[in-house]
Amino acid sequence: MTDLKSLTRNELAEEMQSMGEKPFRAGQLYEWMHRKLAVRYEEMTNLPKTFAAKCAERYDYTVLNAVRVQESAVDGTRKYLFGLPDGNTVESVLMRYRHGNCVCVSSQVGCRMGCKFCASTLDGLERNLLPSEMLEQVYAVMRHTGERVSNVVVMGSGEPLDNYDNLLRFIELLTDENGLHISQRNVTVSTCGLVPRMRQLAEEKLQITLALSLHAATDAKRKELMPVAERYSLRELIDACAYYFEQTGRRITFEYSLVRGVNDSEEDAALLTSLIGHRNCHVNLIPVNPIRERDYVQSERRAVEAFQRKLQNRGINVTVRREMGRDIDGACGQLRRRYQSEQ
Ligand code: SAH
Repeated sequence: MTDLKSLTRNELAEEMQSMGEKPFRAGQLYEWMHRKLAVRYEEMTNLPKTFAAKCAERYDYTVLNAVRVQESAVDGTRKYLFGLPDGNTVESVLMRYRHGNCVCVSSQVGCRMGCKFCASTLDGLERNLLPSEMLEQVYAVMRHTGERVSNVVVMGSGEPLDNYDNLLRFIELLTDENGLHISQRNVTVSTCGLVPRMRQLAEEKLQITLALSLHAATDAKRKELMPVAERYSLRELIDACAYYFEQTGRRITFEYSLVRGVNDSEEDAALLTSLIGHRNCHVNLIPVNPIRERDYVQSERRAVEAFQRKLQNRGINVTVRREMGRDIDGACGQLRRRYQSEQ
């Protein structure tokens, strides 16, 4: 069945027409789904019961329910595990900042990219998420907290550019002025570096931020951490980033997870500096979040600071990601794994 919440406004209007309904029904439905965040037709009080029944017969109405919520005692970060209609589960994270609430959404159930330090990919890819299933992660958090969400980062489980069409539809719906109307500038998509898709995304000319998970400054080291590096070289990646900036005017964010003794030396910092130092960019250093299945260890605080200083001295804009939700399986895919192993 067609998934109602994944339809754009134009598509919804066409559906109404094909059902022989009045055009304004599309606007009403859209408002209930994407602005009032209704979880069932019974809430949609201005719709005739017969019309609602017809919709229920013809369409899937996707709603996510939290099967577990964990709140960090340290910083108030919340991690949600949502049940999907087919019985799978996905993780989302709510981070509360002074400038507003940010939700980190998953784009796939599992992942097939195989990054060595990441828990989401240990069992491979289960399936892509629908646009509605990505949206519902944000909607369900809003319903649960009663608070608005101002920022969305697609940095949960999965590789968003490996689910490209659904991702674009998700962004369109999320930023639509008739829905939540989150500003494109407040949306970040993080990729492990699928070069052709990065170039395609550049040509969409959206105002979203593209974050590239770099994690190493040489091809050899990157290949040790990320199998995707066998497919695309650093040269190709950096060129694709330059193209994204050229097409959109949006500065790239480079993510660099620091792993003790692997990619956190002064030499690594120097190599990174020469790789990206002349670019208009922003570097986000992430102390690696250790997962049980691998023996990667976080860099020492001193190493993180030295690494940061080295980049700053060359005028690179650097932040160290505040570690949030460390006590609640904050890293991608950890909560879902724990939940599954308990079932
Ligand atoms: N597939 C996308 C988005 C998901 S991961 C990507 O690769 O960018 C979001 C970020 O968290 C990526 O930079 C990823 O490499 C990083 N990450 C995953 N597991 C981590 C861990 N255990 N510790 C630190 N960073 C991790």
